[in-house]
Amino acid sequence: MEVLYRKYRPITFDDMIGQDVVKTVLENASKLDDPPHVYLFAGMRGTGKTTAARIFAKALNCTSEGKKPCLNCESCKKFLEGSLDYVEIDAATHSSVDDARSLREMALIAPMSSKYRIFVIDEVHRLSPSAFDALLKIIEEPPPFSIFIFATTEPHKVPKTILSRVLRLDFSPINPELLASYLDKIANLEGYKLEKNLLLAIARRSEGSVRDSLSFLQQIFMLFEKKNLSTRDIYLVLGIPDDEIISNMMQFIYKGDLDNLVNLMDSLRTSSFSPLAIVDSWIYFVLSKINTDTRPLKFIDRLIEAKGDLRYDPNPFMRFELEVYAIFSLLNSNMRVSDESDNRILEKTEDIKEVINKDIKLLTPESSIEQKRVDLSIEQINKAYLKVLEQIKSTNPLLHAKYVAAKPIKFENNKVTFGFSKKESRWHKEQFDSNKEEREMIKIMLSKELGVDVDVASEFIEKETKKDSKAKSSTLTFPDILQHFNAKEIKND
Ligand SMILES: [Zn+2]
Repeated sequence: MEVLYRKYRPITFDDMIGQDVVKTVLENASKLDDPPHVYLFAGMRGTGKTTAARIFAKALNCTSEGKKPCLNCESCKKFLEGSLDYVEIDAATHSSVDDARSLREMALIAPMSSKYRIFVIDEVHRLSPSAFDALLKIIEEPPPFSIFIFATTEPHKVPKTILSRVLRLDFSPINPELLASYLDKIANLEGYKLEKNLLLAIARRSEGSVRDSLSFLQQIFMLFEKKNLSTRDIYLVLGIPDDEIISNMMQFIYKGDLDNLVNLMDSLRTSSFSPLAIVDSWIYFVLSKINTDTRPLKFIDRLIEAKGDLRYDPNPFMRFELEVYAIFSLLNSNMRVSDESDNRILEKTEDIKEVINKDIKLLTPESSIEQKRVDLSIEQINKAYLKVLEQIKSTNPLLHAKYVAAKPIKFENNKVTFGFSKKESRWHKEQFDSNKEEREMIKIMLSKELGVDVDVASEFIEKETKKDSKAKSSTLTFPDILQHFNAKEIKND
């Protein structure tokens, strides 16, 4: 199955969802005789920064008199095939001053066939300070035929000297309603029909990231081949508790029913729901009921704050539990709650605090054990990995579906490298690379099975035929520099 995010990647400004201000600014800029030369695209992941950069690049070079990009002129067609006048660089892997200098040389060479050569530097905040200095020299006086687009998820890490010379455009998270209707369209195109509240749940769970939302959608399609999915199934995939659970929790809290609340917490702890998703659903649940009962206002701030903390907490569930009991106490302090239940809450929270402190101590470097390097054959690794797959097959079929395509191919320095077929398992590799929590889980299970701590990594199995790398010389040719950057050509993406 093709990755949905790629399959439905917008190719014109009209295709893009949300980001109305950005679209207008870029559309207008592309019509100018002398457009601004340096841009900063700021915003969280998956909000369309690279997509917008590609569309803008096409529009800048489009020769049509009407709407740009027209997709029909020579330049637009060439771009779709992969143009040497469009260069994407990942600053995370090319952060050195040498990289920036090569970029400068490249920027001074006139474009091959277009009006402008466009350089996109992704995650620009990852550049080293000296690389930023070198970059600054280019953008202080950019060649008339070069356009620079810096993309970043962390604009506050970009030096002020750079910020003062860019046209900054902020990409906001996509509004859940808008994202849900977009997902509805995609689902229909793929032959699925999902209820509106489910689409909204996916949109919220993705926190405004189009990429994440399409990834969830794809997981749902992949796991359930049948065309009719139950609400519960989908909530399970998303790791979101349904309204019934939240409603029960609220009732137990309001009624001061500690016994049932404790039972519910116990069952939630062993469920696949992430505490972050529970708090999220809770907030939405409360907000949707706010007219009928104003008491929730008392703790909604607490929940929103807790949500922020949970992201970074090493023990998110316990932190969540503490919050629940704190809210229980808060709401029941005016009522007559027996001393007995007060004491039980106190005990419960003390227990949790103790465990949290213990775990944090375990994480300190003093107590971490230096792991010996070991030699294991690929057969041994494979055997252990098959056992891991067997274990997750029944407990987490989705995870199994994702990881079954991974094949252990290398074991070096305690690191297991999984190979993925470039043709069939592109999506699986992307899941492996992007979902850290799941990768950690597999890593821990595999380490347990092997009896030694191992790290995991991924790579494609079919290797691309690479040309012999040429020695660096003072007269770099354009293709040399392209190769140096591993610059992406669009057609391969
Ligand atoms: Zn065109």
